[in-house]
Amino acid sequence: MTPEQDYHMSPEEFRQWGYKTIDWIVKYWENIENLPVLSQVEPGDIRAKLPENAPQTGESFEEILQDLDRIIVPGLTNWQSPNFFAFFPGAISGPAILGDLISGGVAIQGMLWITSPACTELETHVLDWLVDMLGLPEQFKSSGTGGGVIHDTASSACLAALVAAREQANADINKLVAYISTQAHSSIEKGIKIAGLRRENVRFIEVDRNYAMKPDVLEQCIAADLKAGLIPCYLAATVGTTSSNAIDPLAALGAIAQKYNIWLHVDAAMCGTAALCPEFRWIHQGMEFADSYCFNPHKWMLTNFDCTCFWVKDRTKLTQALSIVPEYLKNQATESGKVIDYRDWQIPLGRRFRSLKLWFVIRHYGVEGLQHYVRKHVALAQEFAEWVKSHPSFELFVNPPLNLVCFRYKGDDKANQTILDTINASGKVYFTGTKLDGKLILRMAIAQAKTDKANVELAWQLICEVAESLAVTV
Ligand SMILES: *Cc1c(COP(=O)(O)O)cnc(C)c1O
Repeated sequence: MTPEQDYHMSPEEFRQWGYKTIDWIVKYWENIENLPVLSQVEPGDIRAKLPENAPQTGESFEEILQDLDRIIVPGLTNWQSPNFFAFFPGAISGPAILGDLISGGVAIQGMLWITSPACTELETHVLDWLVDMLGLPEQFKSSGTGGGVIHDTASSACLAALVAAREQANADINKLVAYISTQAHSSIEKGIKIAGLRRENVRFIEVDRNYAMKPDVLEQCIAADLKAGLIPCYLAATVGTTSSNAIDPLAALGAIAQKYNIWLHVDAAMCGTAALCPEFRWIHQGMEFADSYCFNPHKWMLTNFDCTCFWVKDRTKLTQALSIVPEYLKNQATESGKVIDYRDWQIPLGRRFRSLKLWFVIRHYGVEGLQHYVRKHVALAQEFAEWVKSHPSFELFVNPPLNLVCFRYKGDDKANQTILDTINASGKVYFTGTKLDGKLILRMAIAQAKTDKANVELAWQLICEVAESLAVTV
């Protein structure tokens, strides 16, 4: 009798390679400042290093790990570098990674309460904690009519909110109108497209000097739509726009949403984390008007992607919009009405145990530890803004409310593009631009877990050097 061949990694091998994998990660971090922040490879370079076909027989884990350095690392844009200031960051931490590892290890499916009660109850509980941690209104707590859930991304949260709004309106979809500012994130427009509203029924509301939505323009727009026989349905406000960190005036917008029975969704993907600190909670003023709210711990709250926290004021509106119960998912716990089945709160059925990493982060840092990093990043950004203001060749484009600095070299777009391209090609620092009022603007988003003053100083020094060389060549 020949024993069946076992291809699996043995428990001992798993332990051994598990330790080695953690060692690899730590080494990667230790070396990260020596790597170019922006990957320097050309299109196709990575694939060219990969074999044409998949291996017929399994390979040793040692070989697999070795190929990380050879093939993968050169093709990484190193988001965890303290010199990463591009887009919005994806700040991480040890406890979050370990929480995610355990999520992978227990590998449960949290689609229903019964498929792992701990997955559902920890998630509900941690999201209730966060309501208090961020000073959000009680309406979002699970003890009342509301509750929170973890989604993969703000894009999904925004879409789920929109589907609930669409169902609440209960009207001809061709007549439904959605309102966003000209500065809203592209994912919201994408959500509107997916939810099936007509493209011509999206209103891009004009913004003020600080790039925040103008409530009076919104109300005029709603009035015109009503007059035309259309049905205002969904308003998405942003707390911290991606281009410039503009904060839409929630109180004024919320009063309008309430008056016309429009669903108000608040997207605070990046900036929501700031509300951990009482002194920054003004950004959420008027939140009591919101039907739904989301922010991304995977941007600024040291929790690995993916983790978007999403709350609704009335959970039945969300579940009624998204619930379909096939025979094979029926169970007593669901029928008792005593449990949450999170599959009804999201677009997919299956779901990972994401609350573990969030729980680990909150427990490891405590509120105090998390506040420390928010304050540090905001202070660094404010300092950077001062350097910009006092330099004769640069101008600050908007006063940074928090940790995103928008500025510009006093020259044309071409000069500003040269500054970006030269620095990013050097690999020393990575930052990105945006367009505001038709002009190219440079953006420094200061929120990486390991970013210190020296990193911000290095960025500013490089920017000044390139600007000086431009002045010489002009
Ligand atoms: C980053 C961002 C998003 C999109 O985030 P995902 O979680 O990747 O979908 C949406 N809105 C704002 C304001 C953002 O900054």
